[in-house]
Amino acid sequence: VHLVAVGGSDAGIAAALRARELDPSVDVSVVVADRYPNFSICGIPYLVSGDVRDWRTLAHRSIADLQAAGVRLLLNTTANTVEVDARRLSLTDGDGRESRLLYDELVIGTGAIPVRPPIGGLDTLGPDDGVFLLHTMGDTFALTRFIDMHHSATAIIVGAGYLGLEMAEALTARGMRVTQVEMLTEVLPTVDPSLGRLVRDRLIEAGVEVLTETTVLRIDPSGTKLRVLGDHQLDRTVDLLLVVAGVQPDTTLAAAAGARLGPRGAIDVDRRMRTGIPHVWAAGDCAVTHHRLLGTTYLPLGTTAHKQGRIAGENAVGGNREFAGVLGTQVVKVFDLAAARTGLRDTEARQAGFDPRSVESDADDHKAYYPGAHSIRIRATADTATHRLLGVQMVGHKDAAVAKRIDIAATAIHHGMTIDELADLDLSYTPPLGSPWDAVQMAAHAWERAMQHRSTSKLAEPTGTPARTTTP
Ligand SMILES: Cc1cc2nc3c(=O)[nH]c(=O)nc-3n(C[C@H](O)[C@H](O)[C@H](O)COP(=O)(O)OP(=O)(O)OC[C@H]3O[C@@H](n4cnc5c(N)ncnc54)[C@H](O)[C@@H]3O)c2cc1C
Repeated sequence: VHLVAVGGSDAGIAAALRARELDPSVDVSVVVADRYPNFSICGIPYLVSGDVRDWRTLAHRSIADLQAAGVRLLLNTTANTVEVDARRLSLTDGDGRESRLLYDELVIGTGAIPVRPPIGGLDTLGPDDGVFLLHTMGDTFALTRFIDMHHSATAIIVGAGYLGLEMAEALTARGMRVTQVEMLTEVLPTVDPSLGRLVRDRLIEAGVEVLTETTVLRIDPSGTKLRVLGDHQLDRTVDLLLVVAGVQPDTTLAAAAGARLGPRGAIDVDRRMRTGIPHVWAAGDCAVTHHRLLGTTYLPLGTTAHKQGRIAGENAVGGNREFAGVLGTQVVKVFDLAAARTGLRDTEARQAGFDPRSVESDADDHKAYYPGAHSIRIRATADTATHRLLGVQMVGHKDAAVAKRIDIAATAIHHGMTIDELADLDLSYTPPLGSPWDAVQMAAHAWERAMQHRSTSKLAEPTGTPARTTTP
């Protein structure tokens, strides 16, 4: 059997390694458009900030490691078309040489490409002019080279999603003055605005200028700089502009081969990663995702790409594994804050047919008498009828184990637990690290109290309106 994966990032490599792990007799080739297979692109912001000094260390595995695992790498090689009936790929290498590659099973892991918002001038300006999009190692080298060569001091970042925020921190760490422009009402729009507000306050405290409800409309070269124009009188002249406005699935190869497309135009795969085209599988950012509460959706994340790739690789060599699905669990560090979410917010829960209520509370990460305690803001969402836990969001100090706590919530939601059962969990405690009731359990209590208050006082509070409760 010859398994070919197109894409040398999380999904493609996970598929290749899993296939070899299960069946060392399988011949595995990975076609990679660039020369950086198996790089942790999630680490790019920390390379730009200088926290990571050597770009080579971002490789999950070296080329030699991959080869030792039996993976044949075709680097700097682009797959142009899939001939489905002949089970053949047409390839072009870095020197423009064309070739054909036969496969028995094909895993498409072409990933995503950055969204290009409709900004005048964006299509004609590029890295030489100080205009950047960010997805690959190549994009990263172009950005850092430009900053070093031109001693860039000022930047506008378009977008305040997790990547925009990580890059605001990274460029600030390099001594640059950063203006973050976001068209929505608050930064980090994946969490509710009340939590996003805490992140915005931290950005401002760290010297980042934050402009929300503002849209960048045009960029023009202005001498060696860029003039950036937008609504609400936005008119700035800066050294560089970084556009990080989300990603879209790269489906050129799959769509031309006849693959069905689903939400956001991503390749429509079932939970076994089948595309519907015989012997063609897809995984990662190019494909749709099964969400445990929402069904089929598009939610491009590294965590998902690794899991889907592994399943595609397993099934391509005769396995029968189903993708369990995601909850959109994610965490981001913004200066010394960590912000995280899992599951659904009110609006999403309501759209999914639940009757949600969200309650915000504050709880310390560990006993306040032990030095270094930090308060965590937690917003818990559960269904009022069944008490099923639907979602949790939190913002706290980066040392307050926010990631551990969101993962407890993710585990609870994954298993369909009620918010009361979350409060019943036997979690660990010692004063320097926790409390007899963990912060997530105090958030569950706050939710229960708010519900109790509502039923006893018959308060006509509209569903989903957060009652702010602070636990002692
Ligand atoms: C800066 C940054 C930070 C991130 N941080 C996080 C994080 O903290 N947590 C998290 O969960 N996720 C994070 N992500 C998202 C995560 O990196 C992606 O979800 C993940 O990389 C997706 O993996 P993938 O293999 O599906 O696709 P991609 O990583 O997009 O890789 C696609 C691969 O396909 C290759 N390719 C594409 N077309 C062809 C072709 N025709 N022929 C040959 N090769 C081709 C590309 O060269 C590449 O190797 C981050 C992303 C970025 C850019």
